[in-house]
Amino acid sequence: MTKTTDSKLAILGGEALCSKPVNAIPWPPVDDETAEQLKQVYLSRNWSFGGPEEMKFNQEFAKFHDAEYGISMANGTVTLECALHALCVGRGDEVIVPAYTWMATAMAARYVGAQIVFVDVEPDTLCMNPKKFEAAITDKTKAVIPVHILGSMADMEAILAIAKKHNIYVIEDCAHMQGGKWNGKGVGSWGHVGSFSFQQSKTLASGEGGICITNDADLADKIARIKHIGYPVGAKQGAAMTGPQAGLICHNYRSTEFQAVILRGQLKHLPELLEKYSSNAKYLAELTKDIPGIRLQKPGRLATRQGYYGLAIMFDEGELAKIDKEIILKAINKEGIACLYGVYGPVYKHILFNLPQSDWRIAGDCSVTDITVDKHTLSFPHQALGVSRNDIEIIADVLRKVANNAGELIKYQSENQL
Ligand SMILES: *Cc1c(COP(=O)(O)O)cnc(C)c1O
Repeated sequence: MTKTTDSKLAILGGEALCSKPVNAIPWPPVDDETAEQLKQVYLSRNWSFGGPEEMKFNQEFAKFHDAEYGISMANGTVTLECALHALCVGRGDEVIVPAYTWMATAMAARYVGAQIVFVDVEPDTLCMNPKKFEAAITDKTKAVIPVHILGSMADMEAILAIAKKHNIYVIEDCAHMQGGKWNGKGVGSWGHVGSFSFQQSKTLASGEGGICITNDADLADKIARIKHIGYPVGAKQGAAMTGPQAGLICHNYRSTEFQAVILRGQLKHLPELLEKYSSNAKYLAELTKDIPGIRLQKPGRLATRQGYYGLAIMFDEGELAKIDKEIILKAINKEGIACLYGVYGPVYKHILFNLPQSDWRIAGDCSVTDITVDKHTLSFPHQALGVSRNDIEIIADVLRKVANNAGELIKYQSENQL
């Protein structure tokens, strides 16, 4: 029997569509040149913060995103905290964040003592809904943190216009969007501060790490001081000429020279990586556009270079919408596609989110996050977009096969009552 997109699903005992499983490209990337440079840093005994590689990386990364200043840090959570802190967001203030994001976006607000206000995301981009953002504003709202999530971008044009009208600071959470450009200008340079993560899973990865970028010299100075015990940028340990402003609580959130070496190497290849991801994402969208019940996340409305932490896929129409997404995931995995995962639902339903109700609130209706994202959305990790065009065709065939067999899967679901 030939394997077609109409034959019996592997999860129901049929033959898997892929004779050879489709796997994502290995991540993070490694190369001999970087290994040699890491060895040189090791032998130099200059391992800590503020070394020549870090200074160059700060500059290169900021420029790459059209910002003047870059301040490297330990991770992409403290970068958000420092940004809020530098903007004097704190107790009594409210910070608006999307309900669909990683916990760090919300927790950063709590770390500085502010109230977290969750708003819903748009159904096609899964990024903050500007209208719902505006509706959530109160006289306590001091900052908003739009997140450029997975394979899309928050509508910066709309969000900035609303923020300006209401005098609200904008911090872009770009943990998923290294190298992204909105309307020709780098992400992270649109708001007051841009925050990035270099955690192992991200598209620029140094194990752990993060950076704040900004075009504001005063904010850059404050962020640098908060990160490094109060020292200004460039000051040698023990040789600060000026101290931080009175009362500014400063930390140690430094990163190391090793991370900068790895990141500088990867940054050189980022444009070609994103080009490959983007062309595969477009190809997959083209191949799947007529499959009933399946939608791919839309790129940012004005994305001129789309970044990718992943690509969301929604099974929220027709018969597929009646099937538990875990069953759909299992059916796809069984056909030989290993590189598809579930996604988290709303932050406030995350198993690790334990803040008392007095620390946060949900503004308005969050049904896209509560239903579309939580119940019907899966995601390809960005590494899955690094596969060959032939593999993209196989992925599309598997999606078609699952959609063609939706009726059978509904039966399977009722028989197996998960
Ligand atoms: C990864 C991530 C962060 C935090 O980065 P870490 O470096 O892991 O602390 C923040 N926001 C989003 C959306 C993320 O995915």
